[in-house]
Amino acid sequence: MFSCWLSLLCRGFSTPTGRIAHLIRGSLSRTLVLGSQRRTPEFSSFVARTNTCGELRSSHLGQEVTLCGWIQYRRQNIFLVLRDFHGLVQVVIPQEESAASVKKILCEAPVESVVQVSGTVISRPPGQENPKMPTGEIEIKVKTAELLNSCKKLPFEIKDFVKKTEALRLQYRYLDLRSFQMQYNLRLRSQMVMKMREYLCNLHGFVDIETPTLFKRTPGGAKEFVIPSREPGKFYCLPQSPQQFKQLLMVGGVDRYFQVARCYRDEGSRPDRQPEFTQIDIEMSFVDQTGIRSLIEGLLQYSWPNDKDPLLVPFPSMTFVEALASYGTDKPDTRFGMKIVDISDMFRNTEVGFLQDALSKPQGAVKAICISEGAKYLKRKDIESIRKFAADHFNQEVLPVFPKADRNWNTPVAQSILEEQRSGLIRLMEIQEADVVLLAAGEHEKACSVLGKLRLECADLLEARGLVLRDPALFSFLWVVDFPLFLPKEENPGELESAHHPFTAPHPSDLQLLYTEPKKVRSQHYDLVLNGSEIGGGSIRIHDAELQRYILATLLKEDVKLLSHLLQALGFGAPPHGGIALGLDRLICLVTGAPSIRDVIAFPKSFRGHDLMSSAPDSLPPEELKPYHIQVSWPADSEAEKSSLNQPYHPEN
Ligand code: ASP
Repeated sequence: MFSCWLSLLCRGFSTPTGRIAHLIRGSLSRTLVLGSQRRTPEFSSFVARTNTCGELRSSHLGQEVTLCGWIQYRRQNIFLVLRDFHGLVQVVIPQEESAASVKKILCEAPVESVVQVSGTVISRPPGQENPKMPTGEIEIKVKTAELLNSCKKLPFEIKDFVKKTEALRLQYRYLDLRSFQMQYNLRLRSQMVMKMREYLCNLHGFVDIETPTLFKRTPGGAKEFVIPSREPGKFYCLPQSPQQFKQLLMVGGVDRYFQVARCYRDEGSRPDRQPEFTQIDIEMSFVDQTGIRSLIEGLLQYSWPNDKDPLLVPFPSMTFVEALASYGTDKPDTRFGMKIVDISDMFRNTEVGFLQDALSKPQGAVKAICISEGAKYLKRKDIESIRKFAADHFNQEVLPVFPKADRNWNTPVAQSILEEQRSGLIRLMEIQEADVVLLAAGEHEKACSVLGKLRLECADLLEARGLVLRDPALFSFLWVVDFPLFLPKEENPGELESAHHPFTAPHPSDLQLLYTEPKKVRSQHYDLVLNGSEIGGGSIRIHDAELQRYILATLLKEDVKLLSHLLQALGFGAPPHGGIALGLDRLICLVTGAPSIRDVIAFPKSFRGHDLMSSAPDSLPPEELKPYHIQVSWPADSEAEKSSLNQPYHPEN
């Protein structure tokens, strides 16, 4: 990861390659690139330093500079490498008797102590330049030094190559933030958000408006966090998104709204989610889907980092039905093929039991994906684990077939595939030598979903074996459109719930179906997908109060009283409107190539929703709960937990 480049850089090892090299160039030069393309930011205005550690070059030779930074390491009490966010610089520790006090400070201060040094920029003696270090041609001849603050024994070294658990990183997040990787992620995030503001507000007249975070429970959508109030039995809720407020702003005539909005969802732990996260939230009046899509394409193009290939717009789009049929998911990773193919017709007279079975049922189908060169790269145990995955997670049988490869570890079932089916498969799926086909059969949606998952599993496996399927430099955006407006409720499939949120407008051509076959109604919702992750979603909204009431009360069976403010507002000349929200954390995570969204958030919560640094959430004594008229009812098995409340904190593993 990022960490190792720093030490390579400092130790002057051979030229780093691949991703590491990319990151080195990226991290150290990016701010300068940014500067030269626009205005150079004044990194040293108002403060004690004259320059940053990372900016000094031969062009600064002879200049008197003052630098502030952390001691990265020291070599034989002769050199010291000083670090700030911008990079590293070598400082020569003076050896003369007259500079004994400076030498003492610089030699005795522990690593990661923060120091201020003043001196002259000099060139390194011939042969001692370090071409791997952006400041490698120069060094600082120190005249004065001040220890600003000493560093105690660290819980981990601030070197990216030193492995540490995420729990430890989160517990000492302020130290983790000193890493170049975290600095890079947070600074890139800030730059992209700045460009987004510029694009929206300065170029397109959007108004940045803050909406409340103390709100109330509203129907539909994700689970909300509850906040007690001083009124007995009354609670606020933290909003899952500013959805209602942004629609109300449209009613209020603020016809282009945007906000970098904090949203809260009490959804338990999921690897790529956070209980609080950030959206670029947008709403416009008098707009249609095409307008919103063009706006977002322009926004991303404008804010896209300079060191990446420019984005090509418009982004392709695909209907929900097509996405499910070809990729088995509503968020297809379109960086590689391996699409799902319907081969039902070829197997109408099959003798294979489970295929026969599936095809005899309504909606039953046989589907397949072709794993290119699978027979070459995948081992028998890989195929077995793929089949087990399908069985364990989907209760679904999957049949591997090697139509052209000369393999004899086919299952007995695979051998009962007729010759004509084999050649049919080869033709239809354009099968090459060494390809493997995975067959799944069952109800259309289920067979597609399982193959959709296996498609990704296989891609991971093939890449683990050295095949490059997904170019790491590729950003593959896709709009997914024409979602169903409603889905059957999970807990009660006879009832409907909104596929997204209840304010989404139905597709104009399906309006009449609302009153006859609501399950068939398509919505005016659109999702933006990047490399197989949903990074945004939005819709054209219902602006007609009666239609909104009908959907809420009659179709969704929601308590409309809870939304009377919105229904009332729609009745007062609400303009047609629509919007979208981009998940900022996920977007930045993909742009930076970070392994987790926690790596692009300064102070994220752990997997279990805890702040491991401050140990939030925390208990409150009963007297502090009194004003809120609430009492903790401790679960029976929580004695240990209760008594541990006053114990020293132990982070999660
Ligand atoms: N508020 C929606 C969400 O958070 C996005 C939108 O419809 O604009 O998913």
